[in-house]
Amino acid sequence: MHSNPQSPDLTLRLILGDQLSHAHSWFKEVRDDIIYLMAESRSETDYANHHIQKVLGFFHAMRSFADELTQAGHRIIYVTLDDPHNQGSITAECLHHIKQLKITRFEYQEPDEWRVQEHLRLMCEQLSIQSACVSSEHFLSDDDLWNTVFKGKKTRIMENFYRFMRKHHHILMNDAEPEGGVWNFDKENRKSIPKTVSIPEPFCFDHDVSPIASMLNRMNVQTIGKVDAQHFPWPKNREESLQLMAYFNEHLLPFFGMYQDAMTDRSWSLFHSRLSFSMNVKMLHPLEVINSAIETWKNDTETISISQIEGYVRQILGWREYMRGIYREYMPDYAKLNTFNHDRELPEWFWTGKTDMHCLSMAINQSLDHAYAHHIQRLMVTGNYALLAGIHPDHVDAWYLGIYMDAIEWVEMPNTRGMSQFADGGIVGTKPYVSSAAYINSMSDYCKNCTFDPKKKIGDDACPFNSLYWYFYHRHRPLLGGNNRIGMMYAVWDKMDNKEAILHQAEKHLNTL
Ligand code: FAD
Ligand code: SF4
Repeated sequence: MHSNPQSPDLTLRLILGDQLSHAHSWFKEVRDDIIYLMAESRSETDYANHHIQKVLGFFHAMRSFADELTQAGHRIIYVTLDDPHNQGSITAECLHHIKQLKITRFEYQEPDEWRVQEHLRLMCEQLSIQSACVSSEHFLSDDDLWNTVFKGKKTRIMENFYRFMRKHHHILMNDAEPEGGVWNFDKENRKSIPKTVSIPEPFCFDHDVSPIASMLNRMNVQTIGKVDAQHFPWPKNREESLQLMAYFNEHLLPFFGMYQDAMTDRSWSLFHSRLSFSMNVKMLHPLEVINSAIETWKNDTETISISQIEGYVRQILGWREYMRGIYREYMPDYAKLNTFNHDRELPEWFWTGKTDMHCLSMAINQSLDHAYAHHIQRLMVTGNYALLAGIHPDHVDAWYLGIYMDAIEWVEMPNTRGMSQFADGGIVGTKPYVSSAAYINSMSDYCKNCTFDPKKKIGDDACPFNSLYWYFYHRHRPLLGGNNRIGMMYAVWDKMDNKEAILHQAEKHLNTL
């Protein structure tokens, strides 16, 4: 560790593609002795089979952020994917510029992803110059807070974490009491959507990103999904993310909590905010999203009930931070967990959307079309099916990591492997999120437009979810039979008189995959 006495001190600061936070303390002052590096890297386009909109969205936002920093007077090096000197990976890019520019100090913000963190940590161990990893200043919890909540506890219950966060940040609190008298209005967040309720159109931007799309094409970057590159719908910067946030607060928040779990053929995003991309790449800070929604609620408590705002705050202050805590505590071992030893391949139609099961067709096709599905579609349609069908969690993870606009491993994996697939054996959830057709039928209008009958378990037109549901419980009785929260299901199963036929029906379906 030494600096070169001949050359002036020069610091290189790396900005990752999901670190587009204009409010970071790095940018408070403009300095000549600091150079910022941003790079479009092949290592990042290729580590998963990404949706085309996701790659375009990241590069578009990165380029826009680099422009903003340049206009503010910062020294920026931006390496495009087709730059002949592109080094192919984040670490190779850093090493190249450290050498070329005779850098004397290297700094980076803590990456959210374990993979990138490890690469940079190992790289820094080999450097002969000083280096430092600083906070990304984005999250509302850290390892100390996590340990305070869960120290000495065997379980990691989200509700305990959420209540702690409410008190710690004094959000929706009346002194020591929760606003509205109770902590959680989850029970009021489970309504299906009546035909009479009109759903606003999703608020979309209209960017021409065809130059980036052509570059990806030229460079032969493999992607999935569809895009109209001349009418790209996702926000490119903070200003547009703020517009999306304002649209949510004004038009969608009044109905958010109530229809949070609803699904319909009529809309692909219902009353959801579609802010996960903006937050995950840090164009928005979670606290400003929470505060702006609370402000909107306070100004109009007649229209927006406490259950709407609490339901929304819980997602960001609770679930989002909780998933990060799980990822940080359990990685890298978490990525290998497969409690049920599931080993089936993901059906080909997950990549094409070509299935007669209408709920799956809707959830998958809109994911391919828009790089978006809301939480209940991810959890109770695609995730539910993958778990019931016994798909290997690696394949399920790979699909979720690729297909969504907001998919970054720290938040994708605990949601997929944990909450959705129960592959972690119950770290995130106390029981598997599985359901038969009854749940999908009660929360959506999908079954009305399906060739299968949601009420039947056996027969050519019986909904596959029904036989798979019982097959799953039967198959995993040694693991799940002792779970108090599931005991009742086994009592029902034991009383059924057509068990063999149901199991046979499930096997017949699985053999077609
Ligand atoms: P809204 O419904 O408007 O919710 C508001 C915000 O709350 C979201 O923007 C998000 O930041 C946060 N939030 C809500 N639920 C969760 C949750 N369970 N975990 C973390 N944050 C949450 N979210 C991602 O950001 N990236 C992922 O890769 C991802 N993969 C998922 C995979 C599966 C199998 C499941 C079940 C969920 C996944 N989620 C993921 C969580 C959630 O589905 C998305 O955050 C949400 O659908 C994003 O849409 P939205 O912005 O319209 O959310
Ligand atoms: Fe899905 Fe079954 Fe309903 Fe068809 S009947 S939409 S497959 S739950």
